[in-house]
Amino acid sequence: MTTVTAAEAAYVVAALLFILSLAGLSQHRTSRSGVVWGIAGMVIALAATVGLASRSITATGLVLIAVATAVGAGIGLWRARVVEMTGMPELIAIMHSLVGLAATFVGWNGYLDVDAGSNGGEKLSGSLLGIHHAEVFIGVFIGAVTFTGSVVAYLKLSARIKSNPLTLPGKHILNVGALVAFVVLTVAFVARPNIGLLIAVTVIALALGAHLVASIGGGDMPVVVSMLNSYSGWAAAASGFLLANNLLIVTGALVGSSGAYLSYIMCKAMNRSFISVIAGGFGTPAAAADDGEQGEHREINAEETAELLRDASSVIITPGYGMAVAQAQYPVAELARKLRERGVEVRFGIHPVAGRLPGHMNVLLAEANVPYDVVLEMDEINDDFAATSVVLVIGANDTVNPAATDNPASPIAGMPVLHVWEAANVVVFKRSMAAGYAGVQNPLFFRENTQMLFGDAKQRVEDILRGLDALDAPVPEMAGTSR
Ligand code: NDP
Repeated sequence: MTTVTAAEAAYVVAALLFILSLAGLSQHRTSRSGVVWGIAGMVIALAATVGLASRSITATGLVLIAVATAVGAGIGLWRARVVEMTGMPELIAIMHSLVGLAATFVGWNGYLDVDAGSNGGEKLSGSLLGIHHAEVFIGVFIGAVTFTGSVVAYLKLSARIKSNPLTLPGKHILNVGALVAFVVLTVAFVARPNIGLLIAVTVIALALGAHLVASIGGGDMPVVVSMLNSYSGWAAAASGFLLANNLLIVTGALVGSSGAYLSYIMCKAMNRSFISVIAGGFGTPAAAADDGEQGEHREINAEETAELLRDASSVIITPGYGMAVAQAQYPVAELARKLRERGVEVRFGIHPVAGRLPGHMNVLLAEANVPYDVVLEMDEINDDFAATSVVLVIGANDTVNPAATDNPASPIAGMPVLHVWEAANVVVFKRSMAAGYAGVQNPLFFRENTQMLFGDAKQRVEDILRGLDALDAPVPEMAGTSR
């Protein structure tokens, strides 16, 4: 068997492993094996690619590849070990930016290699040369859009810049203009390739990527993350065509299509138009954020909450990003267990974009051994709030904001939310009256049946556990009452 045949066979195995990995990652129970399949596929893919490359590069080149692989693997391992669960979205965004940057470099290299002959490039002619130029241009465009889009997403997700949407005058005209310019420049480049056109498309794509993501509001960021995931896949596929690497094409298409499908599912879950989000908020109303306080709020302490829970017949817990920040899932699971032992019906209501990752809350609750059968999705539980005694909103904000249903001018208008306010009593755990990720004030906090329990969610839930124990403890007899 030749090196080429062995490498192609290894690529087929790696592609199958990547498909198995995606299938495994689609469910909690199989997600660990999904990760293992993915790692195995990547090891095989790397080995086969280096094997193929070894036929045409020098020993120094091989050493450089080994050093680059070791440095990359080292950085990857380090980041994966130190990243907090709440920091995952920004880590993913910055990784997507690297895929975009790599695709841009591959595109530029493809041009310099063949057209400028700078690196002993191969000779292409006729229609093959035209296809090559189209690949270069499209690869650079998708790569550069992905690069700056992901950098802006990283800055927004890590709160280095505000998550409010940027609303430049005529922003849709700017986006459409950039796309039209791309099409026109592609035709011109295929007809008469030159470095000026390649610089022009790179600049336009860098600006478009930044503008598309900057125009999207905080509430729509989950869709943006999965959309950039999809873009990074297409950027990798474009590089695959340029490098004539079948595995890169297959893997890029897998990432591109699964990311696009995830974006579509999230858009449906959030009642957003897919086209509107990928076009940088195209068609979303110019929303007026209402940041001011909207009346008086009432406070409750942990002991009073324990009493409320003792007398409750049914409780729904709706966790959000604050539970992840506080790492409150273990005491929350303990609270649910204790209440169930006392005969209280306890369930969890999970919003599809609660936290900062798709499935974030499910992962945390599974980690704390909360049984799967009491963890319900928003659609499964939304009709049950009206018949519920107490709802504990633990570090959730945007996902329980009634403005999404009541206020058409709200930036999150139309987004389905958990109808917690329909319950008899709502206790909101948070540290202050600050707004949630979307930067929108929450009228829930000022409703008559809502009480605020301020402080770190973990500490407050632990206080409630102690409060419940104290309520259970036998009352000490008063001196002299025994006679
Ligand atoms: P939010 O981000 O809207 O609100 C979280 C709340 O938690 C804050 O109001 C904060 O209030 C509180 N909080 C923070 N730390 C603590 C703590 N230690 N103890 C108690 N409370 C705390 O959360 P949601 O989960 O409701 O909504 C998620 C938001 O994130 C949505 O807007 C969603 O679109 C967006 N998003 C989701 C992604 C996903 O894939 N799931 C990805 C990117 C964005 P305070 O500071 O007063 O304590």
